[in-house]
Amino acid sequence: MRVIVLGILLALVSPAVRAQLFSGTVTGIVTAADPRTDPYGAAGYADGANGGAARLTNRFEQDPIALRNALVVVCVRLAYAPCTPLWTRTDATGRYTVAWSGMAPPTSIRTRVYPQQPDIAIGAVVASAWPPAATFRVTTAGITDVIIGERTETTNLTGNRTINVLVDPGEPTAAFLTAREVYSMLGSQSIPPGGSILGDMQGVDIFVNDLGVPGGGGVALTDSEVLLVPSTATLNPFTLAHELGHIVAWRSLDVGVPPYEFTAYAACGASGDYPWSDFTLECEKPAFWEGFAHVVGGFWMWNPEVQPAEVGGCGTAGHGIPRGGCTSLESPLQRPGSTGGASACGAGAPGHQRAICNARALWDVVDRPNSLGRDLGEIVRVLRAYPRVCLPAPFDNRCVNEWGYDGMNWKDYKANHVTQFTADSVTLEGAENSNNLMGSSND
Ligand SMILES: [Zn+2]
Repeated sequence: MRVIVLGILLALVSPAVRAQLFSGTVTGIVTAADPRTDPYGAAGYADGANGGAARLTNRFEQDPIALRNALVVVCVRLAYAPCTPLWTRTDATGRYTVAWSGMAPPTSIRTRVYPQQPDIAIGAVVASAWPPAATFRVTTAGITDVIIGERTETTNLTGNRTINVLVDPGEPTAAFLTAREVYSMLGSQSIPPGGSILGDMQGVDIFVNDLGVPGGGGVALTDSEVLLVPSTATLNPFTLAHELGHIVAWRSLDVGVPPYEFTAYAACGASGDYPWSDFTLECEKPAFWEGFAHVVGGFWMWNPEVQPAEVGGCGTAGHGIPRGGCTSLESPLQRPGSTGGASACGAGAPGHQRAICNARALWDVVDRPNSLGRDLGEIVRVLRAYPRVCLPAPFDNRCVNEWGYDGMNWKDYKANHVTQFTADSVTLEGAENSNNLMGSSND
């Protein structure tokens, strides 16, 4: 009896032993030369914008940048056999490691890099014909899985083999770098009831070189898709951070698409316009949510504990509002030296419907030392607590589906915030007053 059992065991382990005849480990480091232009490093930008203490120093790093959290596939082709793709994710230093074994010697080993953050742990290796699900993926029309770097070796393939890859500079790599930084920032926020922001941000597709963006720049048409026109990811990375801010909002509100029509950008006031900019006039609903997206972009670019935090472009007058400086997320009282920024939401400016005024009020919720010092996790807690599916939809019900071009605005945010954090009430009133949002509709 004992002899028979032993014989079965030997038969079971035998193929595995033979499979170890050829084996090796492929390691490498994936790096990128940052293809992004730093719009805040340009000469003539407002004081403090580039060298200012508020500017986070881990953006636009020194080249070469380690391509962290990127999707890598190693393809070990054995003689007379197709390769089995082995998928993994680069670590904090851009390094990947994949072990392989087989019954024949390899004829080639190829490493490919994709601008995707796979939803697998660092160090995990997935053997599959298809790439693992993505936390976020940079893609483009017609090519779902864009390749940004590839290298194939055909000699000295067994044992330990190093294959380093320098990825291509361009829109996909630029978008990946910014998105990875935004996701890293989101992962550092406090965890609201219902789970982390990061856990709610899975499966986002970022389309670069897209020609279907109304008005240019970028747009988040659904809660899972960001579209960017050509050159946006390289020349204006803040736009991508802003669009991902829209995704944070739509996911936190559980809406699949933006909760307003595009006509809401242009329906309020003679100067209403689309595309919007920091100084255009919009109805209050899009103005608030554009301001929200700016604040998420602000978290990507600036330290809310330090002033001043600049945002947007400089020097172009818009809709009759002279701009002597650059737009700032700081309220006029906190940043009196910036004439353009100070006047933007000032008493003489027309209307109270601009996105930047809303962005400044929200920034007062998160910045320090002047204000509350809440983080994005706490703001998302407020969004998740907005009442859902109120029907019929009257004004001033603070609901996700509040009706009208001016509904679901700053006032609704404020009311829902105070429900979550009662002690913040006085400070929120101050933020409203100092950013000229008093005239907002109560809707
Ligand atoms: Zn936007």
